[in-house]
Amino acid sequence: MGYDVVVVGAGPIGAIAARCSAENGARTLLLEEHSSIGSPVQCTGLISTEALRESELKPDSSFIYRRIKGANVYSPSGHSIRIDGVRTRAYVIDRKIFDRTLVTRALDAGSEIMLSARATALTNTEDGAVLTVKHCGSTQEIDAKVVIGADGVKSNISRMCGLGRVKKTLTGIQIEGRYETCDPGFVEIFLGNRFAPGFFAWAVPTTETIARIGLCTEPNNTPPYQYLTKLLREHPTVSKNYKGSYTSLTLGSIPIGALNETSARGVLITGDAAGQVKPTTGGGIYPGAICAKIAGEVAARGDPRIESLGDYDRIWQEQVGKELKTGMHIHNAIGKFSDERLDEFIHLLSDEKIMNLVREYGDMDHPSILFGKIASHLNKKKLFVLTGHMLKDLIKGG
Ligand SMILES: Cc1cc2nc3c(=O)[nH]c(=O)nc-3n(C[C@H](O)[C@H](O)[C@H](O)COP(=O)(O)OP(=O)(O)OC[C@H]3O[C@@H](n4cnc5c(N)ncnc54)[C@H](O)[C@@H]3O)c2cc1C
Repeated sequence: MGYDVVVVGAGPIGAIAARCSAENGARTLLLEEHSSIGSPVQCTGLISTEALRESELKPDSSFIYRRIKGANVYSPSGHSIRIDGVRTRAYVIDRKIFDRTLVTRALDAGSEIMLSARATALTNTEDGAVLTVKHCGSTQEIDAKVVIGADGVKSNISRMCGLGRVKKTLTGIQIEGRYETCDPGFVEIFLGNRFAPGFFAWAVPTTETIARIGLCTEPNNTPPYQYLTKLLREHPTVSKNYKGSYTSLTLGSIPIGALNETSARGVLITGDAAGQVKPTTGGGIYPGAICAKIAGEVAARGDPRIESLGDYDRIWQEQVGKELKTGMHIHNAIGKFSDERLDEFIHLLSDEKIMNLVREYGDMDHPSILFGKIASHLNKKKLFVLTGHMLKDLIKGG
């Protein structure tokens, strides 16, 4: 069997890459190891309006549960600020239907699909790539001019072509359960090292009475379930609003810190497999969608030589590389904050002038713009005390 482009992994990013490849005239095959698309779901399903636009989908009611205008952010001591984006800034989506819609778009564009098909080996040369695929009990070889590895955080394609894996992964855990949200158009973010060391916890409403409640942490020796139990039982706001019992439990990893090199002979890597995820929020749909479209277009040229495929690296770095790097600096700095410093940080944001900046420049896909504006607003002493070298660097960079 021979194709111009074979995309491994029919998650959202693989589906977008396959659609773009097929739209650019390449004979394209999408491989998925599971027997159905979109399961299991390992996502909160909060995506910005911009992420939906980059996915080239309309805000279709078939996968949108709720429109979100902003966030209530709680400091460790319980002080809260309300970031009101005034209009719809994000959607809470059904990831299973979203993924299936994206795959259907790829098929409409002419891509073929093979389910229950696991890529187990790869040989890549200047002339193209050969995948060994286990499919419904048999093993077959599939030739491609270019293979796109969109096989998620545990990417084997990336490892097999010598590009390695993303070095850092965060651990996420989430339930969907009964939750009394007093502000349904807003998500809740909870900061503090007791419940989510190094990152944050959240409650994202799907209906008036149900929310996705979860947290993400830096990898450590405490099982994530322990943090979740503590959050549900002991957090002053969460324990009050959570009504007990849940209908789903999700555990997953979030890769942060994108690979520097994402192209090899006959191979491109995209999405979670390449660590193209926002380190500030753990959101992978927005940057992944941008990179997947570039991967699909470059792969569709049908030229497996690194001279051609290297364009993918250059283009995605130009479009999202700086934002992902700055996001990593912000993550590294704020992730190390003590609870006292996190409190100080939230109090600082409560300042009316800073809140105006947050309202004007707050953007979940481009936090570097807001952080740059806040940094240039602070006096130098406060700046050093509060955020050390990170904001200093942002100010220097203008
Ligand atoms: C708890 C949690 C909450 C999250 N919340 C959000 C959020 O609110 N918003 C957001 O934007 N992002 C969120 N994310 C991140 C988001 O889920 C990912 O960034 C996104 O799913 C990445 O898409 P992908 O297609 O690259 O990878 P995946 O969705 O992981 O898809 C990879 C696909 O490849 C398949 N595959 C793997 N290996 C093979 C193989 N060898 N052969 C064939 N198929 C294979 C897998 O079965 C899978 O279907 C969250 C993640 C977690 C863990």
